[in-house]
Amino acid sequence: MEITRFAPSPTGHLHLGGARTALFSYLFAKANKGKFLLRFEDTDQERSKDEYVESILNSLDWMQIKIDSDPVYQSKKAMKHKELALELYKKGFAYACDCSEEALTKMREEQIAKKQKPKYNGLNRDKDIEFTEGMVLRFKFPLEGSSKFKDLILGDIAINNKEFDDFIILRSDGSPTYNFCAAVDDMEMKITTVIRGDDHITNTLKQINVLDALGATIPSYAHLPMVLAESGKRLSKRDGAEDILDYKKKGYLNDALVNYLVRLGWSHGEEEIFSLEKLKKIFNLEDVNSSPSKYSQELLDWYNNKYLNLLTPEDLILKVKENSGVDFNQIDNGKLAISLLAKGAHSLHQIAEESAYFFEEPQTKFDLLKIDSDKKILLSEFSEQLKEIDFKKNQIEDFIKEFLRAKNLKFPELGKPLRVILTGKENAPSISELLFILGKENSLKRIEYTLKDG
Ligand code: GLU
Repeated sequence: MEITRFAPSPTGHLHLGGARTALFSYLFAKANKGKFLLRFEDTDQERSKDEYVESILNSLDWMQIKIDSDPVYQSKKAMKHKELALELYKKGFAYACDCSEEALTKMREEQIAKKQKPKYNGLNRDKDIEFTEGMVLRFKFPLEGSSKFKDLILGDIAINNKEFDDFIILRSDGSPTYNFCAAVDDMEMKITTVIRGDDHITNTLKQINVLDALGATIPSYAHLPMVLAESGKRLSKRDGAEDILDYKKKGYLNDALVNYLVRLGWSHGEEEIFSLEKLKKIFNLEDVNSSPSKYSQELLDWYNNKYLNLLTPEDLILKVKENSGVDFNQIDNGKLAISLLAKGAHSLHQIAEESAYFFEEPQTKFDLLKIDSDKKILLSEFSEQLKEIDFKKNQIEDFIKEFLRAKNLKFPELGKPLRVILTGKENAPSISELLFILGKENSLKRIEYTLKDG
């Protein structure tokens, strides 16, 4: 059975790149009827915070990513890690090293002076130093050949073993290091496919060697190319949100975000809209693009607009109220009003922001319209005639057409000022729909207020 995992370090919130990694890992497990596990890599005690554990869990929950087992906390496994590090030492896959800090610094400086890559030179590799507490354990990295694997996205990857050094697996304070812990935990959690960012490729090669030494089955690996900013540079806080939950606060729908994220590097023919349920069936790694993808706020907005318009008016009302406190149930025709605003909106927040004129009269005075004073007569004729019509959508539309024809006017000559009168804004939805939703009494009141002197 396929088992994947997401292994965040709780040293910050879940950001866009991490959220995509978690999603791909989850979807790959589900599409293969497997399990998705979560492991907090919280061994850096200074930087790891409970608050981030909490916020990562909330983010996954919001994205509807379900974990198939309780999360594993790497910090709680320190004893096991140490035990296995010592076992590797006993079996000759690791050795004790007592090089002092000064000796290591000197080694590094000499290498830099010779324009060599700084790394541990293997000084104690063959000295059979007996391990005692306070010493470090170094992994005996193979000297010959190369380390390699076939990446499920990037293809064959190989690096000459000369590029690596005998890295530390157990520090002098007895704590295990990242590459050792990650390899051990992937083994113990029986991970079959590791999906993570391509910044981990070198780590993968180190971990494969550790897993080999531990006698473990080597999982498959898939490294996801980066998500870049629109500029092509690294994604910063200014581009994608630093915390995925900020998208929730800003009024993005979780389904829209998930759909957007999956399209950041994965495609399925020409299709653009995918529900999570569908993705859980069809997601694969073959269709993940092997080059970096770019964050696009415009595309995210496009998705959110699509998903907003898939909601029922009742759901929209509920979600806008949750997001910003604005309650469309408090106005007449609230369902129509919210659906009208959703057509042009890219977030729940924007719907709330644009909605003010449904709740309060804009109180626009004629002078503010910046039009000829003879339009005053025209508008008052319009309002007189409006009084008489049956206030149905079609009737309103027909009446406007007829009025324009009789007065030999083009639509904007009436539409532009009327829009400002009704909403206080120059950009607003269709006039006939606005009139209908506001209702006869309200619409007339607004026009009369504008026309009245003083
Ligand atoms: N803790 C690592 C990170 O957050 C996880 C890498 C991995 O998935 O193995 O980048």
